[in-house]
Formats: sequence, C-alpha cells, structure tokens
Amino acid sequence: MHITGKEISYLYICKRKLWFFRHGLRPELENDNVRIGMHLNETAFRREEKDIPIGEAGVIDWAAFKHGIIHETKKGRSPGKGDEAQVRYYLWWLNDNGIRVSEAQIHYPKMKKTNVVKWTEAAKIQAELDVAACRKIIEEPKPPEVCKYPYCKSCAYMELCYS
Ligand code: SF4
Repeated sequence: MHITGKEISYLYICKRKLWFFRHGLRPELENDNVRIGMHLNETAFRREEKDIPIGEAGVIDWAAFKHGIIHETKKGRSPGKGDEAQVRYYLWWLNDNGIRVSEAQIHYPKMKKTNVVKWTEAAKIQAELDVAACRKIIEEPKPPEVCKYPYCKSCAYMELCYS
C-alpha cells in the first residue's frame, strides 16, 4: 500500500480526515494534484529543481540535491507536527531509494519562519512508525470517530462530521 506525504501529515492533523481522504472522499478543497508514478532519478536533476514528483510519495516543492536539502513551503501561519511528519517521510522515501538527503526545510512565508527537520536515526524510526500508523487507520472498515478540533470549522469535511 502506497502512502503519500499528505496522508502522513493528516495522521497528525486528524485521523478521521486521513481515512476519508484515502477512501476517496475528497471535497473540492482537498482534491490536490498529487503526481504519481515517476521514479526518481538523481542524475536527472539540475542543481535546483521545483515541483519534483517522488514516486508514490508525493511532490517536493523544491530541492538542492547537491547539498542534500529539500524544501517545502506552507501557506499557513501555524507550523505543526503534520508538516514535520510530511517532510520526514519525504526524507525517508528519498534515502530509502538511494537519494542521500540530510535535511528538510519547511518555509512559512507569512511568518517569515523556517523550520528544519534533520535526517537522523530517530527520524527514520519515527517515519516508519508513521507509515505503520497510517496503514492501520486506512485499513479500518470505518472512519475514526469525530474529534473536535479548533480547525474543524475550516475543514473541508466539516459537513460530513457535523451534520
Ligand atoms: S471536521 Fe474535524 S473531525 Fe472532521 S475530518 Fe475535519 S478535522 Fe477531522
């Protein structure tokens, strides 16, 4: 079962949202354009590339592979564990596929802030735990129960959860 970086981030945002998304319930706002299927080939990259599909895992915003750094830009104003989990998964996927990367930088332009996630043994273990947790939720026959989060009111699944 292929897992995407977006799904890994949902693990930390809302497990119910993860289940809905994976099971094809995708209101307009959630319907991103994940590009699938292109196998990464390190030699194909120039010094810095943008919107890089990485197989089934998702799309990296941009990267400087020469320096072992990938970049993700987030529109929101609140850095969260989901963002970190997403890039940690990308680091895991790349290293697992023979592309040596050591760091992910998450940029929050609205906050003028950058968070850094380093590729360490602990990060590798956590990324693998996240994948296992995602799979477990996805394989459940029913979605997890509603949890009331402050951000439910801006969630695309709100009508499904609160009507
Ligand atoms: S509305 Fe709340 S509980 Fe429902 S999927 Fe969205 S975040 Fe999760």
